Amino acid sequence: MRDSHGEPAGYIFNAELYCPAHIADALPTGDGDAYDGWAVAAGIEITAEENLDEIAIAFGIDRDDEATFDSSEFPKVIRHGQLGGECGACGAPVGE
Ligand SMILES: [Zn+2]
Repeated sequence: MRDSHGEPAGYIFNAELYCPAHIADALPTGDGDAYDGWAVAAGIEITAEENLDEIAIAFGIDRDDEATFDSSEFPKVIRHGQLGGECGACGAPVGE
């Protein structure tokens, strides 16, 4: 269950780990992709959580119940203390 307090340690998406700074870049937001048109525009300041919440709402994804979607479709939250690894984009530690 996702608690709404505190930033996640990172995310798992498509079998890769991502830190909060890079999950948005990992989303399929290009032409014809699942979340076409939902890339964060240059100059927009938005947290990973705000971005993911907006996309989830738009696509009917229930982030509060991660059992209802697969991490190949939409990122799942990794909490501090959960499985660890490195961000697929920058190599920063995620989790642990
Ligand atoms: Zn990163």
